[in-house]
Amino acid sequence: MIDYIWLWNQQMVDTVLSNNNQMRHIVLTSHPRPGGVKPLKVVWGAADPAVRGPLVGTLSDPRRRNVIGAHAGSYAVYRALAVAAGSLNALHRADLTNTTPAASIGPYPQWGEPERIVSLDPFGHLVADAFAQQLAEGWDLRPTIAVTKARLTVPELKHAVRDGQLIADGRIVLPSGEVNCTKVAVEPVWHLPGIAQRFGIAEQDLRRHLFEQTGGMFPELVTRPDLKVFLPPIGGHTVYVFGEVAALADPASKVACRVHDECNGSDVFGSDICTCRPYLVHGIEVCIEQAQAGGAGVVVYNRKEGRALGEVTKFLVYNARKRQAGGDRAAAYFERTECVAGVQDMRFQELMPDVLHWLGIQRIDRLVSMSNMKYDAMVRQGIAIVERVPIPADRVPEDAKVEMDAKKAAGYYSPDIVTAADLERASGRALQDYEGR
Ligand SMILES: [Zn+2]
Repeated sequence: MIDYIWLWNQQMVDTVLSNNNQMRHIVLTSHPRPGGVKPLKVVWGAADPAVRGPLVGTLSDPRRRNVIGAHAGSYAVYRALAVAAGSLNALHRADLTNTTPAASIGPYPQWGEPERIVSLDPFGHLVADAFAQQLAEGWDLRPTIAVTKARLTVPELKHAVRDGQLIADGRIVLPSGEVNCTKVAVEPVWHLPGIAQRFGIAEQDLRRHLFEQTGGMFPELVTRPDLKVFLPPIGGHTVYVFGEVAALADPASKVACRVHDECNGSDVFGSDICTCRPYLVHGIEVCIEQAQAGGAGVVVYNRKEGRALGEVTKFLVYNARKRQAGGDRAAAYFERTECVAGVQDMRFQELMPDVLHWLGIQRIDRLVSMSNMKYDAMVRQGIAIVERVPIPADRVPEDAKVEMDAKKAAGYYSPDIVTAADLERASGRALQDYEGR
């Protein structure tokens, strides 16, 4: 490793910008030039943003950088393409005029506890205000969280209003069946010592594996132990809040919550092999009802497609399940995933509660989830759970029975009992059954 970093280092010469502000020579962030500006130290977990300090991920002023990686998660690669194609000025600075949060969130005591939030920047939505002075001085700082308002048009919710199952209160649910909410986009920001501690591993080992398993994408992980914050190239979360956002943090208000991991096939396209979209919609309904009863509801949507294994792996598993001897059955559900992916699940719910801490949540009265991994992670992180809400049986799609039975048998929360005969029965559709029925 040292050898090729040395080789790269030989290419490092003075920065010369071409006409469209692309750097002509490679400048290594792993070995900044001596004598430059010393990056500002990040005091992770400091309650006062002035003490914590701004996170500087700028690519146009490498000497000031105090984080590893680039803003916008995996979209940084598209930004690179835009610069390469000549359509984006590499020195463009975001104009943050009028971009501040459309609803106030925090500060909450959890923001000042370094071990409580390790995978997002609690001040990520307040950059324009908290670091106004640095911005005025020309620093290139970017928010990692944005808070706005939304009106949702979901066919199932419209039908529920039409059928009288959901009440139009004129505030959260309109007579048309449309739903008002606050939505928040959150990009991941990892404090590496905190992430390592959460997983019970050494920071050095975490850094080395992150470096190696990304094909050496971020040399600073191993060459700059002084940089503790990493902007990982992964998807973030979107948070949908129903009712007043502040009610989530008020122990006197009841809180409903669904933490939903992305499943594009079901969530968007209505594919019927799993319960994702119906459970997500039920989660929204429960959140709305809690908000209408004077509390608040929150849906956290995590970009972790196919249990964070990705959609290609997921579709390969579907085929393996449907073609295996004995057909698609619950007994072999997790096994087929492990054959293809090497593991059953890579979502690692350990980091998931961070966004709940950021919202100030201490207790969830109604958790719309059957997942023990999510429940355990929340409880371990000090969030009390009062009631768990399973998906209603009549919402489980035809081909999703295999998933449902496998999960119940594996110990997912459910009032139902799954028998050995249920597990062995081929209840999933075979591939030939997609032809014209
Ligand atoms: Zn799904």
